[in-house]
Formats: sequence, structure tokens, C-alpha cells
Amino acid sequence: VQVGEFEVLRVVEWAGLYAPVADLFASIPRSAWEARPWLSPDHWDAQTGLYRCAFQTWVVHAGGQTILIDTGEGNDKHRPQVPMFDHLSTSYLDRLEAVVGSVADVDFVVNTHIHHDHVGWNTRLADGAWQPTFPRADYLVPADDLSYFDPDHPERMRVPETEDERLRFDGIHIVYRDSITPIRDRITPWDGSIEPVPGVRLQQYGGHTPGSGIVRIESAGESAVFVGDLLHTPLQVARPDDPVSFDLDPTAASDSRRRLLAQAAEDGSWVFPAHLPGRGGFTVVRDGDHFEIDRWAPFPTE
Ligand SMILES: [Zn+2]
Repeated sequence: VQVGEFEVLRVVEWAGLYAPVADLFASIPRSAWEARPWLSPDHWDAQTGLYRCAFQTWVVHAGGQTILIDTGEGNDKHRPQVPMFDHLSTSYLDRLEAVVGSVADVDFVVNTHIHHDHVGWNTRLADGAWQPTFPRADYLVPADDLSYFDPDHPERMRVPETEDERLRFDGIHIVYRDSITPIRDRITPWDGSIEPVPGVRLQQYGGHTPGSGIVRIESAGESAVFVGDLLHTPLQVARPDDPVSFDLDPTAASDSRRRLLAQAAEDGSWVFPAHLPGRGGFTVVRDGDHFEIDRWAPFPTE
């Protein structure tokens, strides 16, 4: 997709059925999914009730710079908290290099937040150790997430409320040690708002995690916004107050979601969520107190 002078490309690492929508979106009744027949099969499977998603990287070519937004799950990683992605092995890196040239050509890596499915390819296994996958890149990681999930300070995380949360909270310390700690000296922590490349701005929109951010790009009067995990399903466009079970602070996440949708409806930006399969993104229009999808992005269906 062309956004003014900038180019946006998509590299899918994995796409498939993940977990029951009833578990992930507890406040969304099944009838709301069924009321929008176009959601199946790309975004859920109406037969099994399973949520369908993609793990992917958004690549932005802007002003001669190559920027990656989120780095998926990664290969060879120990992930007891998500057994279906334990020691994953995909050809993602070959497909990424087909788009960006060499891994050495990547200038910036943005992790919208620190979760297993957004930082995985920060590192790769080489000679028995986790090495930076992108040897020249400046890694931009939210400062509040770097602090909150730091495995040397487990007391900073809130106490898990369920067994599932306990598994995930323990798991994130494993994620940190294999995908953050090995590149710590290459990370630029950020908060608030920064513009690493003219026309490419990172903005903190907390709630999903304490530091979670979005990336807004603007060129020649056109714009796009990469919203990370503030939107997990197109259904949250119409129902912005409904959280996903992974939102650490659901109220703050809903507020962030409403703010970014209002902005996108106002300026007509493309919206690219981290996990959207199907066409990958959309534009939105306001409809009273909620929003609806206007146009789908012209990416091939995944
Ligand atoms: Zn995610």
C-alpha cells in the first residue's frame, strides 16, 4: 500500500485458528459475531467458534529508511505459556528478506509492546546463543514495558488473578530473557511521543500493556496508523469498549482504542492492527458512538 511517498508491505509469519472467541472476548456475545457474516472465515470460524489471527510484520519504507513494526513469534523459542508456538520453525526470515533485501538493511525495529508475539524475531539462535537478527538496527521499545516486565524486578508486575495469567506472567520473563536482554544495548527506550524518521511518529497508547504504542505515518497528505494490539478483531471497531483478555488495563485500553478510532475516522487513515488476517487493514467511519469499517486494504487475503 502506498501512503503518500511511503510504502507499506506485509510479511506474515503465521496465520490460523488460535482460541475460542468466548475466552478471548468474554464480553462479546456470540450473536454479535454471527450478526456480521463477513467475519467468517477470515476472522473467526463460525463452526468451531475459534478466533482466527495472523502474526506478522509491517514493513515501512520511508525517506530511504526501512522500518519493521513488530517481529512476530520467532523461531526456536521456548514458550511453555503458548504450546502451539513452542519452538516454532517457519521460513519467515526468507520471506522478510525478499521484501527488505538483507537483515542488515533494516534501520529501525519497533516493538509496539513486549509480548511473545511482537518481539520474537528481535533475536535468532546462532552458535548456541541469542543474537540480534538485525545487526544494524536501532530497536525502539516502550520504556514502561522495559521496566514493567523486567525479570530482575518481578515485583513490578501485578499479581496474576487466574492460573492462565500466572502461566503467561511467568512466560513473559522467558520472552524478555531471550528476545530483549540480548539486544539491550541496541534498544532506544521511549515514551510519550518520538519521531525517529520524519513523518514516522511513535505514540504511547497504554492499556494493553503499560507502555504499548502505535506508529503513525504521514506523507503527502496521506496517513496510516499501526495500532499493535489495541484492536484484535474488526468487531472491536463497532464495539470499542470490549477488551481482549490480554489487556492488562481494560479500561485504559478501551480509552486508547476509542481515541485512535476517532482520529482515524477524522483523517481517513489506514488502520493496520498487528494481528489482522484477511486484508490486513481498513479505514473507518464514525457511526454515532461507535465506528464501522469503510474500506479494506488492498493486500491479498491471508
Ligand atoms: Zn499480540
